[in-house]
Amino acid sequence: MTSAELIAMEEQYGAHNYHPLDVVIERAQGPWVWDVEGKRYLDCLAAYSAVNQGHCHPRLVKVMQDQVHKLTLTSRAFRNNLWPLFAKETCELLGYEMMLPMNSGAEAVETAVKTARKWGYLKKGIPLNQAEIIVCSGNFHGRTTTIVSFSDDPDGRDYYGPYTPGFVMVEYGNLEALKKAITPNTAAFLVEPIQGESGVVSPPSGYLRAAAQLCKENNVLLMCDEIQSGLGRTGTLLASEHEGVKPDLITIGKALSGGMYPVSAVLSSREILGVFKPGTHGSTYGGNPLACAVSREALRVLVEEKLCENAAAMGDYLINGLRRIDTPHIDFVRGIGLWVGIVLKPQAGGARRFCVALKERGILAKDTHTHIIRLAPPLVVTKADIDWALGEIGQVFKTL
Ligand SMILES: *Cc1c(COP(=O)(O)O)cnc(C)c1O
Repeated sequence: MTSAELIAMEEQYGAHNYHPLDVVIERAQGPWVWDVEGKRYLDCLAAYSAVNQGHCHPRLVKVMQDQVHKLTLTSRAFRNNLWPLFAKETCELLGYEMMLPMNSGAEAVETAVKTARKWGYLKKGIPLNQAEIIVCSGNFHGRTTTIVSFSDDPDGRDYYGPYTPGFVMVEYGNLEALKKAITPNTAAFLVEPIQGESGVVSPPSGYLRAAAQLCKENNVLLMCDEIQSGLGRTGTLLASEHEGVKPDLITIGKALSGGMYPVSAVLSSREILGVFKPGTHGSTYGGNPLACAVSREALRVLVEEKLCENAAAMGDYLINGLRRIDTPHIDFVRGIGLWVGIVLKPQAGGARRFCVALKERGILAKDTHTHIIRLAPPLVVTKADIDWALGEIGQVFKTL
């Protein structure tokens, strides 16, 4: 079937909860994808950073195939031989004592919310059902009813009420606002070290470090959502490392499985994750052996192929190259590691038309918040890939 036929079919039968670019991808390898007509594109979204290791990484394909024949799911009613190894290796890699496995990112964030509340009642002594969690403007933490209850994105939130109470929103990057919002009932501060969905927004330098200090002084848990920022995207394993901060709790997902399979997790201390007793939280697929096998390998690939280092080096190269593009359309280019936002001027006519033009030239990028083009290729991209992409991007800005 042609792209046009498949697009028409999707529009008819698939719910319209996305507005994808009109490219129908059939196969992929590393940073490259091919459509059903055989045309090649550089993937500059990497499935929102789920394929940091590159598409169909041979090591992940192999582990996936091998494990499928052995054991895929036991449920946690019984033990499996891979969950202990996955938990130990991930805790050691990221510097935490304990881990709780889930599937989607939103489930990890829900787990973090539950952890904070329960910790608040059992350890901090907050009166029952009065725990508050402070969140940030512009946040993106997922799509469940509780999570959209503390979003300020009208598209994600409107018409899904009644909303879950217990969340207080402060301006992202504003330390004074955070200070003012903390009360004796504050259990946690939930924050993205860098906001991806918001358009690759970094808070002022020193913000996260000062926020961590504030949390510590007030016995408030610092919970960093590293689902998109973590696992190499910014040039370090966790984005919070850039500020020298070790959050009390982190959520990870996306690249945790290198795009093979939904795997997410919450990592924290024994004291904090210890609030969960048997039967108080769980997931049928959480910690399943297939997920454990593929995620163990995905983390090894990140380390052994030095993908953090490559993200840092290639990211600098990409950002510098983009800043040299001479065009009246670009306001500025921001980013860290291989996580880049090209912020267009209001009169540029919106980012979508640039993304459509980039697609025509073989680059898949995502428009965000009307005026921002986001570039976040798999961390395996080479200098040659980026040189080629910079040429094409330059051409698009010359012709539009
Ligand atoms: C993608 C994302 C989530 C949600 O993950 P899903 O797997 O889509 O549920 C949560 N937080 C952040 C920061 C994300 O980027």
